[in-house]
Amino acid sequence: MTPGAPGPPARRERERPLIERAAEQRGSRRRAPAIHVEHVSKTYELGPIRVRALRDVSLKIARGDFVAIMGSSGSGKSTLMNILGCLDLPSAGRYVIDGTDVRDMDEDDLSDLRNRKIGFVFQSFNLVARTSAVANVELPLAYAGVDRRARRQRAERALASVGMAKRLDHQPSELSGGQQQRVAVARALVTNPTLILADEPTGNLDSHSTEDVLRIFAELNEQRRTVVLITHEPDVAEQAKRVIHLSDGRITEDARRVGVHEPPPAVQRQKSAHGVASEAGR
Ligand code: ADP
Ligand code: MG
Repeated sequence: MTPGAPGPPARRERERPLIERAAEQRGSRRRAPAIHVEHVSKTYELGPIRVRALRDVSLKIARGDFVAIMGSSGSGKSTLMNILGCLDLPSAGRYVIDGTDVRDMDEDDLSDLRNRKIGFVFQSFNLVARTSAVANVELPLAYAGVDRRARRQRAERALASVGMAKRLDHQPSELSGGQQQRVAVARALVTNPTLILADEPTGNLDSHSTEDVLRIFAELNEQRRTVVLITHEPDVAEQAKRVIHLSDGRITEDARRVGVHEPPPAVQRQKSAHGVASEAGR
């Protein structure tokens, strides 16, 4: 799950799963922000060359917020998302997710966290080829040890929620880009994560599919999930409640557009334009 990570870190004996330990501190955790990044830097060492991808980034994201992270290519967006998703660790600084410092977690804790609490969506969909939509969506549940029947049911429900109920047995090559991304979104939400992290999810989509996928993110946010969406497209960022700009590894702008507890812009529009044929084009 951690592509390109240098060998496994020294592993200490596992006490108890994080999920269990966390349940005991629920009171304090509920008050903690979903995401708390403090003075985080990330430096990649390429032989003699050091690339400073993030420089002293501090950021709090509240539960239920919908945040767009913008910036030109190379500004550090994916590096930040990999840290937020516990796919990579900061070189310096602190990252506290849901009240727990990632430095206090071992590899098993981190993979539990990624599997159960975070849903990832990528620009290139990352579906398994020659494997049906429903089997792709079942995968994270298989890793989590959910039994076969429950797996199938939940995967079907997730696919139905993104308008893909009639494409269960289609393989990725038999689906359009927009449909593939909807399958990928179903895979991200099938574990019922509290945090959705999406890195340029609409980067390979036409405008119609972009709208579909953004509407689904808005709905997920309306269900109180925290959504962090990385994009370099201003009209995509407009769908978020808060827009953060990165430039050369630093936050240069942070603008709140809609309150954390208000519905996201797409849902507000949908409500005012009542009776939209939501199944149109699906
Ligand atoms: P963005 O997603 O905004 O395009 P990235 O976070 O991918 O930016 O990259 C930020 C900077 O870090 C770039 O200069 C990029 O070349 C460099 N970088 C990203 N990943 C690596 C890596 N694994 N090794 C070395 N340099 C990297
Ligand atoms: Mg990127």
